[in-house]
Amino acid sequence: MTTCNRTPRVGALVAVAIAFGLAGLPAYAHNDEEAVGRASVARIMGAAPLHPSQDMQRYVNLVGGLIASKTDAKQNWRFGVLDTESVNAFAAPGGFVLITSGLLKQLGSEDELAAVLAHEIAHVTRQHHYQAILRQRNAEAAMKGLQADLGKDGADFAALSKASAVLYARGLDKSTEYEADLIGVQLMTIAGYDPSAHLAVLEKLDGMSHGDPRMALLTSTHPSAKERIDYLVRAGIERLPIPTASAQARTARFNRSVRAVLVK
Ligand SMILES: [Zn+2]
Repeated sequence: MTTCNRTPRVGALVAVAIAFGLAGLPAYAHNDEEAVGRASVARIMGAAPLHPSQDMQRYVNLVGGLIASKTDAKQNWRFGVLDTESVNAFAAPGGFVLITSGLLKQLGSEDELAAVLAHEIAHVTRQHHYQAILRQRNAEAAMKGLQADLGKDGADFAALSKASAVLYARGLDKSTEYEADLIGVQLMTIAGYDPSAHLAVLEKLDGMSHGDPRMALLTSTHPSAKERIDYLVRAGIERLPIPTASAQARTARFNRSVRAVLVK
């Protein structure tokens, strides 16, 4: 990259961060759940920035927003692509969902993207990370003999950030991952996507997971892809309806907005 290319790239990153609602973190949060989410997202984005392609960010927000509109959750949903070769996706309380460009590169269609986003949306609607972080903070507060005071304005950003770092490194319980898979396939189906795309994503992950360093965090924080496939098959994923609309237009959109940017 030449020096003259740097300024527009930084400018684009700032624009994307503003669009994602993250410029100037920590910022005002509408409620405690969002405050926890902002601290978590700041941690995650400390390790990898948002990808500068605004077109790709907009597209991922459209797909994610469509699926999220099928939930009852009144969240201010924000979706983002992280610029890293690591293969992973993250959900954070308050409606934040992030997918890495490394995982996006492995996907072949909008339906597969929908599967990844729907799993993360399910984590948010079931408050998996939020409840885990609250439990951790309560335990810490109890240890210090203090009352946890999570509802106050100006929640302790540093403590939240630390709690979220521990959680995102350790991962959730296996049962919550299975629950997110199950709710995710239901949500993507309601949104008009083919639920078998979730199995296709897991099969891809299974094909890569053995010793690939890009998969290290995902592998250590989730049940194996094979266990997740078995669970979904036992739960009856193959009985879910397959959309009648052809996937061609969706795949063309995906190729235009994602593959054209990431796969050169
Ligand atoms: Zn998960």
